Amino acid sequence: MVKQIPPVQKNQTIELTFEDLTHEGDGVGKINGYPLFVPYGLPGEKAKVKVIKVKKNFGFGKLLEIDQVSPDRVEPPCDVYVQCGGCQLQHMSYNLQLNMKQNQVKNALKKVGHITDVPVHSTIGMDDPWRYRNKVQIPVGYRGGELITGFYRKRSHEIIDGMDTCVITAEINDRMVEAVRRIADRLGIQAYNEEKHKGVLRHIMVRTGFETNETMIVLVTRTEELPYETELVKELNETYPQIKSIVQNVNKQKTNVILGKNTKVLWGQEYIYDTIGDIKFAISAKSFYQVNPAQTKKLYDKALEYADLSGNEIVIDAYCGIGTISLFLAQKAKKVYGVEIVPEAISDAKANAKLNHMDNVEFYVGEAEKVMPWWTAQGLRPDVIVVDPPRKGCEEALLEAMITMKPKRIVYVSCNPSTLARDLRILEDGGYETKQVQPVDMFPQTGHVECVALIELK
Ligand code: SAH
Repeated sequence: MVKQIPPVQKNQTIELTFEDLTHEGDGVGKINGYPLFVPYGLPGEKAKVKVIKVKKNFGFGKLLEIDQVSPDRVEPPCDVYVQCGGCQLQHMSYNLQLNMKQNQVKNALKKVGHITDVPVHSTIGMDDPWRYRNKVQIPVGYRGGELITGFYRKRSHEIIDGMDTCVITAEINDRMVEAVRRIADRLGIQAYNEEKHKGVLRHIMVRTGFETNETMIVLVTRTEELPYETELVKELNETYPQIKSIVQNVNKQKTNVILGKNTKVLWGQEYIYDTIGDIKFAISAKSFYQVNPAQTKKLYDKALEYADLSGNEIVIDAYCGIGTISLFLAQKAKKVYGVEIVPEAISDAKANAKLNHMDNVEFYVGEAEKVMPWWTAQGLRPDVIVVDPPRKGCEEALLEAMITMKPKRIVYVSCNPSTLARDLRILEDGGYETKQVQPVDMFPQTGHVECVALIELK
């Protein structure tokens, strides 16, 4: 075999035409077949690019100047888009974002799963793909003796200068963060210093139920004691009636993990409430709750449609979290079994079942890949199985248990098209057929892709 020499050198400036996009939304252009990945490049664009890294089979470049601009290029509305890195797609029209996500699912199915003849529908997007997040957690620091809040600069722990809003965060949450910052600064509450592991206020977290307009403020502190607690709480709840809960979470560890173990209520309720469709949820500081409720509803409706329940079915919801999908399914099923590894999530799930007066759901703590084979051995034969695993996908033992249980339908909710495709291959080899796949845009402006697949027994 002839040894290929990369046709470019480090620091060289080249003229490049972008043909494609990577998973992360970077532009891909080729020089004599050698691909270069360039952040912010868009397909169809011609640009001057500086080569910054040369590897054997591919390289990386930096966009210097665009000579031919794509009609899909838009002005990012965020002032700190490039510094922050929390969003990756703000320079792209929303239409292109949706197409890119659909293609990503198609490509993964083809390349990883060797599945080509399955309809992958157009991505279900948002009418207004901004300010959709119901939760924000933001670090607190100092600048010029004043308390500041802002996200960290990409790959650093330095708070971005002059960041006063986040365009994918709900306006109300942005305003609450600013209110807490301003009052805490005036009272003289100290910010946490990460390097010295000293000081008090580490993060401000705000969560609002979009349907109920109830807001929870979480003050994450290094210390048990929160100086000026009474004054801070009084001013917040007297000024902002939508605040229903103010809690303090103590995190004494030197760690990147935001929340610590213990939470105490400073004022109001321990929970706020929100609804998705007809189901009500109680959400505490540490509960996992989907951040984009409008799209979550669309995703769960699709999962429910694919489950095609008539009221007589036994259903398993594996990786059930706080039971959101389980409760959605229980509205239309005879019985739902949920399994999830985090005990606190299962406590929330049980509480949520009670809150909605649903007694046809049972929740179990455990590893889905162990509980499912055990259920199989016990003779449980569900009609439908829903799975919603983390990014690494389903364990093989779980896929095998599903194949043994032989449900008529499997509904696979996935946040990673590659592991979805890998798992679909195993299910197809085990006698199942993928019928259709629906991408849903849960995280506009970012590279995250979510989809739901319907798989049926052949
Ligand atoms: N279906 C839920 C949560 C999905 S997120 C919702 O829509 O809200 C994936 C969940 O899988 C997380 O709650 C995580 O704690 C859980 N999990 C991760 N590994 C697991 C395992 N091996 N067995 C069971 N649950 C697991």
